[in-house]
Amino acid sequence: MSVLETPVQREDFDQVMVPNYAPAGFVPVRAQGSRVWDQSGRELIDFAGGIAVNSLGHCHPALVEALTQQANQLWHISNVFTNEPTLRLAKHLVAATFAERVFFSNSGAEANEAALKLARRVAFNKYGAEKYEIISALDSFHGRTFFTVSVAGQPKYSDGFGPKPAGVAHVPFNDLAALEAQISDKTCAVILEPIQGESGVLPATQSYLEGVRALCDKHNALLIFDEVQTGVGRTGQLYAYQHYGVQPDILTSAKGLGGGFPISAMLTTEELAQHLAVGTHGTTFGGNPLACAVADRVLSIVNNESTMAGVQARSQYFTERLQQLATEYGVFQQVRGMGLLLGAVLSEAWQGKAGEVLKAAEQQGLMLLQAGPDVVRFAPSLVIEYADIDEGLARLEKALQQLLAQA
Ligand SMILES: *Cc1c(COP(=O)(O)O)cnc(C)c1O
Repeated sequence: MSVLETPVQREDFDQVMVPNYAPAGFVPVRAQGSRVWDQSGRELIDFAGGIAVNSLGHCHPALVEALTQQANQLWHISNVFTNEPTLRLAKHLVAATFAERVFFSNSGAEANEAALKLARRVAFNKYGAEKYEIISALDSFHGRTFFTVSVAGQPKYSDGFGPKPAGVAHVPFNDLAALEAQISDKTCAVILEPIQGESGVLPATQSYLEGVRALCDKHNALLIFDEVQTGVGRTGQLYAYQHYGVQPDILTSAKGLGGGFPISAMLTTEELAQHLAVGTHGTTFGGNPLACAVADRVLSIVNNESTMAGVQARSQYFTERLQQLATEYGVFQQVRGMGLLLGAVLSEAWQGKAGEVLKAAEQQGLMLLQAGPDVVRFAPSLVIEYADIDEGLARLEKALQQLLAQA
């Protein structure tokens, strides 16, 4: 038997993997739409969507077709050359958004790294070496490279790795006065998630984002929207900034963009893009033909009125059903979010127990996410079947009954 055919089990994780994750006790092997099967053949409903990545569910036939077609044509060619899928996807993103220029990379953190470096370089070129301060929100999340964890306002992810990049300030989210007190002509950029995803599915208010835009303009600071989680139709618009009508200078997109194939993008204007001249930045796999071919197909399916209307209709259905569960069982005190990025906030008595809800749900055959210890997060496929929503929520109800019986 070749090493590739060796049977593997969950227990092997602890023997061969770096222990930075604590995966569930089963190993998924196959999936279709919003259903997943594990090694034992057990079927689960997927409300997690690979953490807001599987925007069209698992193994969507159009994405399988785009990937296999490209797999028979050209896999990788490097940025010494360009390629057709890259150019098509870039044109598609430019046509669909405020952006005029695109930079491709492979993960959300890398797209943010590019955005932050661009903002620093623009300020350096236009205003000199003293304009470098980056302001972000407390409890934000921008990825796990050292620059992005240092910029995000969560010390638990950035402490203990030595000296941090300097010139970063943190302010409370949705607090315009706090930003006004911090921002100055030394500020080169403000970076925000329109909905704070990892730390609790917390949407920015309309007046906050409008106020942030005005403060950035006043101080010649760039506004960066990290739409890694909120992008590609997740909120019921292609990007969340379109809901708010507040346009950033730089936008980052990842998670849902490839529908499960790793790819990210930084979008910006022509004027700003000129500051990343030849040789200033790059990445080996950025603009990979396989990734771009799949992402272009994702975009074709997501960026149309019927898919977006479908997200809004599913969102309303999902929210109403979750509110019913909240009223009936008292485990949740609030349902918030936008589109199919929803958070059920645990009530007082259940604070800190999101992990327990996830475990109970898994026992009933339901995959969920948490967003911090106090919020259960839902990020299902944008085209999830209503029957799967019903079945998943029925399993959630059983999980809540089981938790209450034990309490
Ligand atoms: C997930 C996430 C990231 C990081 O993306 P990676 O692909 O894990 O690097 C950055 N920003 C936001 C808002 C995210 O949700």
